[in-house]
Amino acid sequence: MRSLLVLIDGLGDEPIPGWNGLTPFQRARHLNIDKLLAGNAAAEISICEDDIVPESCSCILRLLGVKNEFIPRSRSYLELLAHNRDISEFEMVLRCNLVAVNNDGVITAFNGAGLNPLEMQSAAAVCDDILKDIEFIHLSEYRNLMILNREEQVLNCMVPPPHENVGENIFSLLAELKHNSLAMKYFLEVSARKLQNFSRNGIRYMLYPWGAADRCVLPSFQALHQLKGAAVCKAEIVAGIAKALGMQVEIPKHATGDIDTDIDAKATSVLKLLPENDFVLAHFNGSDEASHRYDAAGKQHFIEKIDKGFLGRIMQEYKQPVKIVVCGDHVTSSVSGKHGRGAVPVVAGISNGLAVTTHMTSYQDIINFLMRESD
Ligand SMILES: [Zn+2]
Repeated sequence: MRSLLVLIDGLGDEPIPGWNGLTPFQRARHLNIDKLLAGNAAAEISICEDDIVPESCSCILRLLGVKNEFIPRSRSYLELLAHNRDISEFEMVLRCNLVAVNNDGVITAFNGAGLNPLEMQSAAAVCDDILKDIEFIHLSEYRNLMILNREEQVLNCMVPPPHENVGENIFSLLAELKHNSLAMKYFLEVSARKLQNFSRNGIRYMLYPWGAADRCVLPSFQALHQLKGAAVCKAEIVAGIAKALGMQVEIPKHATGDIDTDIDAKATSVLKLLPENDFVLAHFNGSDEASHRYDAAGKQHFIEKIDKGFLGRIMQEYKQPVKIVVCGDHVTSSVSGKHGRGAVPVVAGISNGLAVTTHMTSYQDIINFLMRESD
């Protein structure tokens, strides 16, 4: 029997003040999820448990059956793959945020706040070709990647994530990186000068490289499960994971990675891929984004739209029995705006098949249900 994993990013949450103790998932109307549950309550399972970080990269790899030893320490390499680029074993790749900094060198925003996406693109363009040893790749908005030789000693530098260091001094945060690599020091200083043209209202923009990763080879999905797998997604990290695992990747044209994504197009893609694959992953990122914005109601409505517009269509239009799991990868609290290790809702059932009672108590049960033939 084929299987479908509907991954609602950051689906776990905490009771929202003023909602009588309900989370966005509990408050959402989800008739199709309820149909899958067939009278049972959704299981509550921590995917990251206490041994991996509560981030999409590690948690989604885990749900796809990848063992801990293969989980990369940074997502930058997988994001690079998502852009159809690869590096050799002699190179490494870093994420590189365009951050906003005040006159005292204090980071005021990790995401280029104050510039529009087009300006951020122009800002990235002035950082091209500063140094032939550092390749600079613009991804989107404030997000960029840098490729450089492994001989530059930055792989083991502890550069803390910029989103956790707003309010801190950028020069202290990047001191070790610049100390260890002359090329990096030169690149950061020249780019800072060139980016001065974008300054306004006492705020300037600078590059913040972090999350260095080397090349990592993951086992293929086929080798892990003897199954052919595909993914429908927009988020770069998920496309990168799927490519690294040798899965077919489909990115619907109007998918956005946020709550305004084209849910209907994702359903169409899944309906096309299901007959050709044993396993399909459908990823929805907007729920995580909404929580980071403290938008519990936006998250609730997004869950409702996925239930109606996505799951409803799959359950109605795909006529074969199919195992379906709807779950989150980690908690993203709409109260604190942060990721957490807690339990996420997990819904498992069979569409067009006999109702099954599944007692899921750990992430391994999810993998077994989806990837192993039970009938
Ligand atoms: Zn997140």
